[in-house]
Amino acid sequence: MQQLQTEPHVFLPGSTIGILGGGQLGRMTILAGRALGYRFVVLDPVADAPAAQVADRQIIAPYDNRTAARELAEAADVITYEFENVDAAVAAVLERESVVPQGSALLHTTQHRLREKRAIQATGAAVTEFCAVRSERELVDAAEKFQWDAFLKTTTGGYDGKGQWRITPEADVSAMWADVLAHLGSLAAKADSEPEPLIVERRVPFVCEISVVVARSTRGEIRSLPVVENIHRNGILHQSIVPARIPPEVALKALAAAENIALGLNMVGTLAVEMFVTADGEVLVNELAPRPHNSGHWSIEASVTSQFEQHLRAILGLPLGDTTLLTPVVMVNLLGQHVERLDHWLERLPTWAKLHLYGKADAKQNRKMGHITLLNSIEQALDWTEKSAIWTP
Ligand code: AMP
Repeated sequence: MQQLQTEPHVFLPGSTIGILGGGQLGRMTILAGRALGYRFVVLDPVADAPAAQVADRQIIAPYDNRTAARELAEAADVITYEFENVDAAVAAVLERESVVPQGSALLHTTQHRLREKRAIQATGAAVTEFCAVRSERELVDAAEKFQWDAFLKTTTGGYDGKGQWRITPEADVSAMWADVLAHLGSLAAKADSEPEPLIVERRVPFVCEISVVVARSTRGEIRSLPVVENIHRNGILHQSIVPARIPPEVALKALAAAENIALGLNMVGTLAVEMFVTADGEVLVNELAPRPHNSGHWSIEASVTSQFEQHLRAILGLPLGDTTLLTPVVMVNLLGQHVERLDHWLERLPTWAKLHLYGKADAKQNRKMGHITLLNSIEQALDWTEKSAIWTP
């Protein structure tokens, strides 16, 4: 297990930070870091990636290219990543040849749903009921166990609702299994490296979904952003509302669970903890993301310190910043289908809307293209979102 450094190295402004991954999370991290006077080099396979557009330099290569990883290590004083599926061999190269304050142990844990759930349970937090599944027979057994009201999920590589199937009494299990096999390529071929390729989870009849973005620095300091309420559409985050409309004791429970997990997993950097809240106020952890998260984007305008600045402070050995909420806020995602009529609605945004676009050329269906932060009362912000034509199918 990676230990906290007793005398953490402080990377002062002027240092160069390497980022593995060139997406919007990297882009917003760089924009925060630039204000503090840092330089950035990004590794991403796609030229002119969102983060590369605002970085000092881009290394264009696949994420699992060890030579490119070495080049990144050489160019940067300190390295971070903006996604969790970092190749293990590349992580080893980076740790050996540069400084990766976050380490790679937590990546290993969060890359696999079962490992992740077991690690969360070990910190004392509650998770959704689950069981591992390896065959169609075991899938039927699991479905029975959860009264045919459950989710089948791949243990690796799933995001934004991908690699997920809904189990209901009407579900055709054989067709589902065939689809799973197609999705996994070949279950048999993967069986050696992935002994537990699938998981079935009981459906939680949640009253709301929430998340906590917690940062822990190389000095051991911990600070969370306020609890966020999240609304998903088709498995993709649609809206984040802060403060979450939950009783204060439930919010305290969620914050305590997130901070315990950060401590229990010896995390350095930023961790997003996604949770379900049940009708009786129980908080169940759904999943973790060991990086800044979509549900924390509102913090750029509405927190004294944004999740991106806090992440940098945590890994650079700086004191963490205040996370006081400056104003109630609603963040709404802009997907590919929402930016088609950008020219039309750009004219009609309220003055209290802050627009973020990630510089992606291709506006594909369901691709995250940007977000809008609404700095008004939650009622006004939700009312405007509801009436706006932007998110109307
Ligand atoms: P995930 O990829 O696990 O974050 O799932 C995406 C979304 O699917 C979640 O944010 C929930 O809205 C829904 N979901 C996933 N698992 C469950 C569950 N066990 N019970 C209820 N809803 C779920």
